[in-house]
Amino acid sequence: MTASRPTLVLLHQRVGLPWLFDAAVRAGIDLVLVPRPDEQVDPDRLPPAVVELLPLDVAGDPAGALKTLRERHEATPFDGIATLYDPFVPFAADAAELLALPGIGPTVARNAQDKRIMRERLAEAGLNVPRFVRLDPADDPAGTVAEAGLTFPVVVKPALGMSSLGVTRVDSADALGAVVTEVRRVSAGTADKGAGLLVEEYLDGPEFAVESLVHEGRVQVLSIGFKGDPRGPYFEETVYRAPAALPEAVRADVVREVIAAHAALGITLGPTHTELRLRGGSTPYLLEMGARIGGSGVSHYIAENVTGVDLAGEALRIAVGLPPTHTVEQGFTEPVAASANYIVPCGGHGTITALHGLDEAEADPRVDHVVRMLAPGDVVRPYPDFTGYPAFILSRHRDLTEAEEFHSHLESAIRIDYAPATSEENPS
Ligand code: ADP
Repeated sequence: MTASRPTLVLLHQRVGLPWLFDAAVRAGIDLVLVPRPDEQVDPDRLPPAVVELLPLDVAGDPAGALKTLRERHEATPFDGIATLYDPFVPFAADAAELLALPGIGPTVARNAQDKRIMRERLAEAGLNVPRFVRLDPADDPAGTVAEAGLTFPVVVKPALGMSSLGVTRVDSADALGAVVTEVRRVSAGTADKGAGLLVEEYLDGPEFAVESLVHEGRVQVLSIGFKGDPRGPYFEETVYRAPAALPEAVRADVVREVIAAHAALGITLGPTHTELRLRGGSTPYLLEMGARIGGSGVSHYIAENVTGVDLAGEALRIAVGLPPTHTVEQGFTEPVAASANYIVPCGGHGTITALHGLDEAEADPRVDHVVRMLAPGDVVRPYPDFTGYPAFILSRHRDLTEAEEFHSHLESAIRIDYAPATSEENPS
């Protein structure tokens, strides 16, 4: 430790979302913030715990960004580096290794991020994995899928994707070629950088998110939350309600599968965010596991309300090499309350003219945050392009039933009005 107050470099954190900054205050950690390129951060009005801004072009010039970090570290050492932004997890691992700071290591970071490698590692460990095939840029879709023995429906997705961008269900061989062309188009120019696609069996069953904290190889499963049952062809997120109502045996299977996946991928430290489906309603199949707090911090909000464990505070402490304030025990943490995120659906496309119901939601005593991401004047492009979600409504509840009732109320209370798209906005 370099000083009485440890310092952490936090990459690409949205300043409008409070959880990480507040957690750093609680943990007594100073933050050096590497701002998002699309956010102007006023140096005179820094978020809590931020002592310095360090602009870096992590996406465009990772080698230059690493060099700047090394120079900054040599001049005034910092104690850790972290990000909640999935595409930068490998960069944070590279920087941590270069500067001998706590981290999961570059290989583990890349294994967890590339869905093809992740699936291979899980399969090798004997875990449940949908049949899948890699589809590289030169591969013929129909031939490759047929050769792999996949049956329809399948899901086509970018190997390094995020936010469901381009993830598409295909029901027949006839439709495959056009979808692959479209997914290649949508994912070009993103973090994907021509990395290729994955085609896999469609997993039929409800979806769940699992938040965990790992220390010295022990995996504490903090929360298992219901994420809806999206059927596609495009997979917009809709709800997150925790704790999920699961039969004891199914919950035990989920916990076992998630803990085993950490071992298979080699994640021995820090927070993780796992998404899975219960195939046939009961058998857990991992969709992805990120070595980070999920949802830009939403996962902290949910896990803390459900269990009382300060996920973000503990994650920041681990990232600077401090022990967590509680003993991280392997296994499941019993929930003490319920918490939810309602993800306002776009419900159309074109130019937003009005968003109804958000002010009323904000005034509800059970609501802690209404995170507004789209506003009147913003243009929502039609799927499969992904513009972003209009808003999140984060709430606390006595139990799951109350959370469900609240979400049914929001479904009818929130509405977005659009002006029709011009042909320029919607070239198809
Ligand atoms: P991303 O990392 O872009 O979010 P995911 O692989 O997590 O991509 O897929 C996004 C969403 O698409 C998932 O949350 C799930 O709803 C759906 N999905 C992805 N793969 C499958 C699959 N094999 N079967 C069923 N649904 C899937």
